Amino acid sequence: MNYIDVALPNAVRQVFTYGYRLDDDVDLVPGMRVWVPFGARKQIGMVVRVHDRKPEFKVRYITDVLDREPLLNEELLRLTEWMAGYYFTGWGEVIQAALPAGLNYVADRYITFAEGASMSAGLSPREAEVLGEIQSVGEMKLEDAEKRWSVALVRGLLKKQVLELREVPRVKVKPVLVKAYTWNETQRDKLQAFLSGYTGKMYAWIESAMQLHGLPAPMLQRDITDQHGISSYALKRVEKEGFVHAVELEQSAAESLHLLHAPDRIRSLNETQQEVFAPISKALTEQRFESFLLYGITGSGKTEVYIHALKQALEAGKGGLVLVPEIALTPQTVRRFYEIFGDDIAVLHSRLNDRERFEAWKALRSGEKRIAIGARSAVFAPVQQPGIIIVDEEHDNSYKQEDPAPRYNARDVAVLRASLSGIPVVLGSATPSVTTLYGVTRGKRTLLRLPSRHAEATLPKVSILDLKQYRNAMRGPIAVPLFMAIEEALARKEQVILLHNRRGFANYQQCDECGHVPECPHCSVSLTLHRRAGSLRCHYCGYSERATPICSACNANGMDHKGSGTQRVEEEIAPLFPNAKVLRMDRDTTSKRDAHANILNAFGRGEADILVGTQLVAKGLDFPNVTVVGVVNADTELAFPSYRSSERMFQLLTQVAGRSGRAEKTGTVFLQTRQPEHPALQFASRHDYESFARYEMQQRKALQYPPYSRLIQFQFKSGDEQKVAQVAEAFTRILAAVMQGHAVLGPAPAAIVKIYNDYRWESLVKLNLSVGPQKMEAMLNRVFELFEKQRPEGASTVRINVNIDAI
Ligand code: ADP
Ligand code: ZN
Repeated sequence: MNYIDVALPNAVRQVFTYGYRLDDDVDLVPGMRVWVPFGARKQIGMVVRVHDRKPEFKVRYITDVLDREPLLNEELLRLTEWMAGYYFTGWGEVIQAALPAGLNYVADRYITFAEGASMSAGLSPREAEVLGEIQSVGEMKLEDAEKRWSVALVRGLLKKQVLELREVPRVKVKPVLVKAYTWNETQRDKLQAFLSGYTGKMYAWIESAMQLHGLPAPMLQRDITDQHGISSYALKRVEKEGFVHAVELEQSAAESLHLLHAPDRIRSLNETQQEVFAPISKALTEQRFESFLLYGITGSGKTEVYIHALKQALEAGKGGLVLVPEIALTPQTVRRFYEIFGDDIAVLHSRLNDRERFEAWKALRSGEKRIAIGARSAVFAPVQQPGIIIVDEEHDNSYKQEDPAPRYNARDVAVLRASLSGIPVVLGSATPSVTTLYGVTRGKRTLLRLPSRHAEATLPKVSILDLKQYRNAMRGPIAVPLFMAIEEALARKEQVILLHNRRGFANYQQCDECGHVPECPHCSVSLTLHRRAGSLRCHYCGYSERATPICSACNANGMDHKGSGTQRVEEEIAPLFPNAKVLRMDRDTTSKRDAHANILNAFGRGEADILVGTQLVAKGLDFPNVTVVGVVNADTELAFPSYRSSERMFQLLTQVAGRSGRAEKTGTVFLQTRQPEHPALQFASRHDYESFARYEMQQRKALQYPPYSRLIQFQFKSGDEQKVAQVAEAFTRILAAVMQGHAVLGPAPAAIVKIYNDYRWESLVKLNLSVGPQKMEAMLNRVFELFEKQRPEGASTVRINVNIDAI
């Protein structure tokens, strides 16, 4: 008789013990999923421990074993266990985040006729009829049954226990197919014969056939039309004549069609790059944990250093993990890795569907692919024997998951994974977060510096434009010096990037008569005006209504367009440069699959002269022809109240400035502001990260913010406005008692009190650094224990989230 501990996919912070019989034909080991009874239902869980300690209570037996081999190895089990403790969530919840969606705990629910149930037991005729039908088909998806009859009817039958719910673990299996064409080589002679004897008019389709002649590999339909300018009509004709034929490719295969594999294009490192590479290489050789901060200005060749480190890992028979902020935003980086490592790489796109993700995951787990590259959740990639972990743009906020739990920071988890595996980890950035830098000052991390750009490229010259002084010298949203610089760049056939980081409260309407601003009925935010669509939308919940000139508060014909979002900037810029083509990139223009890449590719090919966008344009792009970068309003970051707003402003300005003058042409940057003296802006304009970091550290220290404390945020949410306040207050009283000696702030309503009809309150603890992770977990346990004992009435309607290291 053996016992297993199972982690179930919920927030309960404990594992459950089940029995299983040794005579089962599978050898049950941790990391396999099992099918277990839980309450009245069955659930999928993961075995985390096998032991022979008989529990006190009467054990139940597992129903089934779902895997033949463990899905998570020992390394990943330890990692997820540690995370559950540190981030104060259920182990199963972390495991769920670590498994690809196609393989998670979610099950499809089927209903079947319950064994031994009696047909006649108090059923209405209608119920009996439905039951009969279900019995005749054997089983049916719960969802389908509910749609077919009604939720109430089906649930009623389940309650009467004449139907049984069966859950089947789901692996979604439908690949996304895209259309591509290949040249039909047997038709070569036909084309030649055709052309030599042909004297008639050159039809478009004939020209197209010649263009497609000898197409070496399948080419995506959209590339044929987009890049070769061949109309879909002409393409059809070419196909009909038999010169090409259509093939369907899986999306994942299609991704790599664009990518060139040329391993010999690896560049030799320049002198400084070699210097920073040496200690990384040493740790790799010695197979020991060491945490590096690679602080290298934009364009200094951090990517080249990563590539050399990965190459060394592969040569030693190991693998590697590369985390990037958002795959869609870093197509160039991915392309560069692919060029060198080709099929050794599994790219974990957010654009992959569940099946593709699962395939990539399997390829890594089997060792067929050895390098994983992806965003946040790639930190869990099942790379076999990783030799190195790389976190590019380590300062990026997108590494932190906010909702749902686990609210982890992939950068910190990467460091932990490296330490558990005894391998080096490299955190790279041009603007390292002060938290990461603090690790250096405390001797926990090795600082490596790349202080200059590769070869001749120099950093751009930055000018600060005080908008207060240019009040009478504006061209639309931009001041005259920026306007002139753009004109000159356009005259030289160079390109321009304009950053305007305004989403949310950007374009709004206001009544000129009574001052009324339309707000979302479900959220406490003003609605954003989308002029082209003629609608007002909530950027939090998606609510939308028609925009009208009539004020709903005073009935005057006075509604006017206020604020300036990216769309407005785009509209105002276009007439200023009538000969320039303007592209816009923000969440609204990039919601479709591939939209990001399409905009960036078009800009890269020179199809547009000016790219206007939100922070999406600031990250990681390398366009050698961009020589002017303008920031329309550098103060936007400061409008979001956060202890990190200065840091964010500095990072954003530095990153976007880094887009200018990346090749031999010199770049210029203009920062428009109403706070020209702001230190973050001043330091950014001088490319002076180190002084900024020193200044920022002092500020943080004075106010005991991270890295000088650990922030724990508690969030209380409920549809009931009164209850949420009551619970927040009761909870925070207990919190303050348990956390004596640590600063406890709140409770207070959240910055946006209401989102989607949920009222939100918050409390914050600045935990002294002397408290280690285990002590922190114990304190939190204590808080919840006490709260359970003294919970106010109706507290169950209030959800309480814990967010460790909130940002
Ligand atoms: P970062 O990642 O630090 O922003 P990149 O690795 O993208 O910098 O390098 C910036 C540019 O300089 C790229 O075009 C890259 O190809 C080039 N480059 C960097 N290092 C080298 C090198 N050692 N040899 C040749 N080109 C290099
Ligand atoms: Zn809303």
